[in-house]
Amino acid sequence: MKTSGIVRKIDELGRIVLPIEMRNRLEMGPGVGVEIFFENDAITLRKYEPTCTFCGSAKDVTEFKGKKVCKSCIDEMCGK
Ligand SMILES: [Zn+2]
Repeated sequence: MKTSGIVRKIDELGRIVLPIEMRNRLEMGPGVGVEIFFENDAITLRKYEPTCTFCGSAKDVTEFKGKKVCKSCIDEMCGK
């Protein structure tokens, strides 16, 4: 992980503004989920992408009865 050189101050409610260049590059517009990781005294943010309950893939994932399932697993379940 390389440093961006950007320093932001946390406001009274614990919020920071993510740099617009980074949001644009990752297509993180309003309403996009962000996953927060905490390890070794560092906080990492990642654009939330739902993954398949069965195989962990993030490709072509849809929801079925409250579970995330990818197209590949759906095809497999349907015997395709
Ligand atoms: Zn799958």
